[in-house]
Amino acid sequence: MPSHSALDLLLYFFSLTPIRPPCIFETYNWAAGIVARSGKVTAMEKVFHFDSAADPYVADAAVLCCFDQRIRLAVYKFLQKRGILRPDMIIVAGGAKTLASPRNDFERDFILEQVRMSILLHSTERISLMSHSDCATYGGLAAFGGDPEKEALHHKQELHRAAQLIQDKFPEVRVECFFVTFKGIFAALEQGVDQVA
Ligand SMILES: [Zn+2]
Repeated sequence: MPSHSALDLLLYFFSLTPIRPPCIFETYNWAAGIVARSGKVTAMEKVFHFDSAADPYVADAAVLCCFDQRIRLAVYKFLQKRGILRPDMIIVAGGAKTLASPRNDFERDFILEQVRMSILLHSTERISLMSHSDCATYGGLAAFGGDPEKEALHHKQELHRAAQLIQDKFPEVRVECFFVTFKGIFAALEQGVDQVA
């Protein structure tokens, strides 16, 4: 028979008594409610403190981008330069490939749903679609024989196809397309893109 602590025995006593005055569980829940409203969390241990703005926001853009870590900093700096300070980031392997050449219908529909949610929840009016050089989901630069021009041309076509899909599904939004390389970011749609470098 396992041993019991004093608390176990106390809880067992309260479970038996028909009176249960004043119930310790209710007292605990009441206290937890007060704590929750004050912004404190007792259910988990805090391992990092950071003050974030909790105000609701309108997203400057929904940004579909590959999860490749090599392009992350360039993408964030580019967005900041363009004044996109509150993006809804949709970061998945392949980025715009999930719309242009999805592996299956589920992948494409999932991303479209993410865009729809960004528009619905954060009143997003601009969608930025991105792909990048040497993306593993395309087989890397090697898949284009190591030719950056050939790769860029292919990605331009891919981005156009992704943009068309978004525009068809969400005609009210503005769509932008970008190809990210290790030397900079290129606009894949001619109109409406200002150079910020
Ligand atoms: Zn990638």
